[in-house]
Amino acid sequence: MAQGISGSGNEIDFDFATSIADRANRMMAQHGVPPTPDNFSVWFYYAMGGSLTLKKTIDILIANKRKFDSAVNRELYVTYVNPHASTSGDFPEQLRSVIASAQEYLTTAIIDNRTQMQNLGEVKSECLGAVDPRPIIERLVEELSHATSRSSALEANFLQTTKDLDQIKDSLKEAEQHSNTDALTGLANRRALEAFLRAAQITAMEAGTPLSILMLDVDHFKQFNDGYGHQVGDQVLRLVAKVLQENVRDCDLAARFGGEELMAILPGAAIDAGIEVAERVRRRIADARLTRRTTGEEISSVTVSMGVAQFRMGETADGLIARCDKALYQAKRKGRNRTVRETEEEIAA
Ligand code: GH3
Ligand code: MG
Ligand code: MG
Repeated sequence: MAQGISGSGNEIDFDFATSIADRANRMMAQHGVPPTPDNFSVWFYYAMGGSLTLKKTIDILIANKRKFDSAVNRELYVTYVNPHASTSGDFPEQLRSVIASAQEYLTTAIIDNRTQMQNLGEVKSECLGAVDPRPIIERLVEELSHATSRSSALEANFLQTTKDLDQIKDSLKEAEQHSNTDALTGLANRRALEAFLRAAQITAMEAGTPLSILMLDVDHFKQFNDGYGHQVGDQVLRLVAKVLQENVRDCDLAARFGGEELMAILPGAAIDAGIEVAERVRRRIADARLTRRTTGEEISSVTVSMGVAQFRMGETADGLIARCDKALYQAKRKGRNRTVRETEEEIAA
């Protein structure tokens, strides 16, 4: 079982810590362990004698002349220093390495700064009673040049870190675009919808089973947004999405098609079953009492219009969606708050 090391070290005496760090560094060099932050923490604890099992493990590895390759080093780190490291697999590796490198530089800077202050303190006491100022000036110049090179290194690291973070931002954006969920409603997004529909069409053709889709559009939503504000509009959109999600089966897919248009794909459902679902959703939305979340004030209800279409074997996804959209358009034209099937027969009002 993993034995994480915790609560150690915050109060370690500076000189003691420095001597442990030196020993850890020497041993790492001796055994060819790359000086990464993770490896350093392993060997720091080893040098400190922080864990008997870690000590025993490393001693055995050394006695057996085992190579400290990346797999062994990682195993030591995960087992003895940070057991959580193994479970954070989905945390972008790139981000972890940027944070580690920033932490490393910061630690270096802090230690460096402390050493420098100590040195300056020594120079100060040397000043008292000194006859020849030259050695003191030389030491001051030396400290100054050390400080300058340290801040140049820090600046370079800062620029690199900023660049790395920009890259991470770009990849996160890309990942978001590629994800399958719509952020506002929590429903499947357009991309996921298209993939699901494609698969459902194939199944319908292979198995000869029906497949229906429904399209939902909020009525006069622009007006609603204008009257209550976009945020309340978003809240309503989330509610509509929730009602849709709650009224489809697990094997169906509820998705946001775009804007205030939602869709459900109902594998195995013939048009009548699709109409039934659409009507249930439409009624539940019309009956929902809406209140402003911030004040509890009741606001006017919203209605939705629905189009339902059944897949015709061999037709394209675009063709099916276009027929469903046409039915939805008919529902709007006929006065909204109703469901229209692809055959343009009005279902309810
Ligand atoms: P209709 O009954 O014909 O559908 O009228 P409508 O006003 O709903 O139609 P229109 O297409 O003119 O307007 C759609 C509105 O939906 C405009 C836009 O502000 C709003 N909308 C689209 N997406 C969102 C969203 O994510 N949040 C909010 N709050 N509003 C949205
Ligand atoms: Mg619309
Ligand atoms: Mg609308």
